[in-house]
Amino acid sequence: MSSKDESKPLYASVNAKIMSDYLASIGVAARCTMCRSENLPVPEVRSATGSMSCGTPLGTYNNLFIMKSAYGDNASLRCYALLCEHCGHIMTFRAENILEWRRKVIMEKASEGK
Ligand SMILES: [Zn+2]
Repeated sequence: MSSKDESKPLYASVNAKIMSDYLASIGVAARCTMCRSENLPVPEVRSATGSMSCGTPLGTYNNLFIMKSAYGDNASLRCYALLCEHCGHIMTFRAENILEWRRKVIMEKASEGK
């Protein structure tokens, strides 16, 4: 139970801007796969002031959705979403892909700064 709680700041380190940068970096021009609209806000939540541990940006970050597996929590998927305002279609992206990309970007920036 505690390890689950400790993972929350990690998932809360992605906001709409970071997700947009991630999609751009892999050559994805975000469009609704149903209606082709480009109006795709990211569902976000706002952190309660001062309640998050260090490493978590205060302010707004992506809402995290969990696709529950029938075979237990270890097989569940954690996702961020894009929501089409025009038709309501929801597109989900595996959170770990974005976290891993972000980790690499941070590592590259850190090594450039040396
Ligand atoms: Zn749509």
